[in-house]
Amino acid sequence: MELNKLSLSEIKIGLEKGDFTSTELTSHYLERIDKHDEQLNSFISVTSDHALEQAKAADQRYKNEDALPLDGIPIAHKDIFCTKGILTTCGSRMLSNFESPYSATVYEKLDKQGMVMLGKTNMDEFAMGSSNETSFFGKVKNPWNQDYVPGGSSGGSAACVSAELAPVATATDTGGSIRQPASLCGLTGIKPTYGRVSRYGMIAFASSLDQGGVIARSAEDAALVLEAMSGHDPKDSTSLNLDAPDLTANLNDSIKGMKIGLPKEFFDREIPSFVENSIEEAIAVYKDLGAEIVEVSLKNINLSLPVYYIIAPAECSANLSRYDGVRYGYRCEDPENIEDLFMRTREEGFGAEVKRRILIGTYALSAGYYDAYYLKAQKCRQLVANDFNEAFKNVDVILSPTTPGTSFKAGEKTNDPIEMYLQDIFTIPANLAGLPGLSIPCGEHNGLPLGMQLVGNSLEEAKLLQFAHSFQSNTNWHKKMPNI
Ligand code: GLN
Repeated sequence: MELNKLSLSEIKIGLEKGDFTSTELTSHYLERIDKHDEQLNSFISVTSDHALEQAKAADQRYKNEDALPLDGIPIAHKDIFCTKGILTTCGSRMLSNFESPYSATVYEKLDKQGMVMLGKTNMDEFAMGSSNETSFFGKVKNPWNQDYVPGGSSGGSAACVSAELAPVATATDTGGSIRQPASLCGLTGIKPTYGRVSRYGMIAFASSLDQGGVIARSAEDAALVLEAMSGHDPKDSTSLNLDAPDLTANLNDSIKGMKIGLPKEFFDREIPSFVENSIEEAIAVYKDLGAEIVEVSLKNINLSLPVYYIIAPAECSANLSRYDGVRYGYRCEDPENIEDLFMRTREEGFGAEVKRRILIGTYALSAGYYDAYYLKAQKCRQLVANDFNEAFKNVDVILSPTTPGTSFKAGEKTNDPIEMYLQDIFTIPANLAGLPGLSIPCGEHNGLPLGMQLVGNSLEEAKLLQFAHSFQSNTNWHKKMPNI
């Protein structure tokens, strides 16, 4: 058995039994990265020395029989999570020289469980994008077909897990950036309820929407890591004051008699027939497993995209105002005066998409326009959340496609931002309502994978993963991996 084929629980058993050491496993992954990542570009930094040190410490703990829960298991972290003393770039020239003085809570929590960091993954600049083409560090390729994009903004995390350069990766999702790349790379990606995972040390894009999560090869793997990442953090004022949920205990429970809602508005949209067929086949699997299918209505769902593209840019314009060349990050050369320093630093440090968002957001928040745009968008956001609340009175989960199609060719949508924004048409509503959502593979078209999305009620990550696991226990889509 090749080490890169093992699931997280198989890795754990292998390490416990002494079939292999964490050092062997970590070296194996580092060799794969060395061999394949020059092409894929899924990592911004590979932290080999650090990884081998962590692996050695894990091996010692196994020897001493005091191993931690996820001891010695390698992981890749999206380069949005601050890691003390290690480069954290957020995919931007603005932070291309930034070594954080502290680590994100997500990193700390996984470190405390013994996980070994292989490196930091590539991403769209400041997590703005759906194709991983906006990174200052170059675009990422989809391992299924290297002419195609891996999705974004967590494209590096998805590409490296799909190419088996890491068994699992952290990611973040503001409007779909975990679920969309998971869908485009044939993986399982989960964004938990807003507030489940601490945002401390996770570089902010749109604070009321950003949420950390996991991209993995199965629901079972995702459950193990998400559980370890979750839980209250006093350092994040929006963190929910709840203990980490048990996400593995009910994975194998039957979903018989449980209800799946199909939002009629999603299916009223024109979706390609191969997407519709895959979703229908997935529904048939769930019916066989005893689930009941119920039509639901999310009548304000069409407001989601326009509402998101007011709120996210508005919050981004506020969050990104801190990058001015004074305290940290990129600074332009030889500024003439303070104004020149601010202007040239920001002009040179940010890419086009980030600038577009800052401009839209600044406009939407400016005096006289705040009520017309931002406030109105917040009210519409509540309407979307109300629709979900109403639907969840009758159903356990809501099922839809994750994306309007399979992956697209690099360059195909770069000149049409609206086309690019439409990638997230199915994923954004869950962020607006703060609900948990996941994507699992459910089909293939022209050799490219396709995902379905399940959205759950607030705090019901365990139920979502139960639905995902029961699908994966009865299908093989998640086992298909690209040939690289
Ligand atoms: N693609 C969306 C955007 O560009 C979502 C990004 C994200 O979830 N970080 O805003």
